[in-house]
Amino acid sequence: VNLGMLATTVRPRHRTRQIMVGHVPVGGDAPVSVQSMTTTPTADIDATLQQIAELTAAGCQIVRVAVPSQDDADALPTIAAKSPIPVVADIHFQPRYVFAAIDAGCAAIRVNPGNIKKFDDKVKQIAAAATAAKVPIRIGVNAGSLDPRLLAKHGHATPEALVESALWECSLFEEHGFRDLKISVKHHDPLVMIAAYRLLAQRCDYPLHLGVTEAGPPPQGTVKSAVAFGVLLSEGIGDTIRVSLSAPPVEEVKIGAQILASLGLRPRKLEIVSCPSCGRAQVDVYTLAAKVEAAFDGFPHPLRVAVMGCVVNGPGEAREADLGVSCGNGKGQIFVKGEVIKTVPEHQIVETLVDEALRIARATH
Ligand code: SF4
Repeated sequence: VNLGMLATTVRPRHRTRQIMVGHVPVGGDAPVSVQSMTTTPTADIDATLQQIAELTAAGCQIVRVAVPSQDDADALPTIAAKSPIPVVADIHFQPRYVFAAIDAGCAAIRVNPGNIKKFDDKVKQIAAAATAAKVPIRIGVNAGSLDPRLLAKHGHATPEALVESALWECSLFEEHGFRDLKISVKHHDPLVMIAAYRLLAQRCDYPLHLGVTEAGPPPQGTVKSAVAFGVLLSEGIGDTIRVSLSAPPVEEVKIGAQILASLGLRPRKLEIVSCPSCGRAQVDVYTLAAKVEAAFDGFPHPLRVAVMGCVVNGPGEAREADLGVSCGNGKGQIFVKGEVIKTVPEHQIVETLVDEALRIARATH
């Protein structure tokens, strides 16, 4: 094997059409975007805008709000106008809310075809209204709410059933000349979800919104999403992602951004590389790593900072870090690019690392 030839980047992106969700391009050569969904009642405008502000600060690029009632629909004009990021209205049961959301200035609409009764009659009007307002639509198929006809045909929510449902719904819009669509086919099982998106990527060029639905609380939900998105994104499949967690949505955004950074699809931010600790450790690595992480929270330069539990293997194991510490005998050896530059008492490790990081950042930026 020629090690030099082994790929260390993800495969070229599957070619998709590009749509605009407000000012955020999705698909084509646009960077993979991170989105999330608010958990506040949408009708509570202040709480919803507050949560959108928190999500935006965490790096969320598109936000979805649920619209289960008229009160929620009534809140959309204010939320859409004041949100700093594009707002997607999530509509399950009532086609009339689709029109309300378009009128309200929402950047996109998500519909779940299996859930909207008699939706088919309304497609022509929705396509016309969405075209006039330049609002794209996400066809969001979920295993849990699959069209009963397809459930009967396939027996359960197989990848084929999810894809058939999505493409059938797309075809209804296509009949009216509407192709400003993106698709999701979510399932709680990463393997089914991966198979469904691979199939979808073979069969259409619509941008794909990745999601593992009902992934659960962290760490289970985090792992499921990271595994599924990692497989698909490394194959070039996926244009926007939403990590679903039974946890505050800010966590979803942070994890989504980390998944993209791990795959080199988003510039890395500061990264803490800490050793897992072992019998050789001469410091409480977990506590020290947490202190270092807190001290570097928000640090704007993409440095890699290593926290290593022993002086024997530490610097060598962390050779690719920009700087770091390896600990022993109540002291910390501070190293830069694998070379020890000074030794400080344990209580000065964190501040010394920050000082050195600032020095490196000033010298290189
Ligand atoms: Fe163990 Fe030292 Fe490696 Fe940490 S750096 S895992 S303490 S050998």
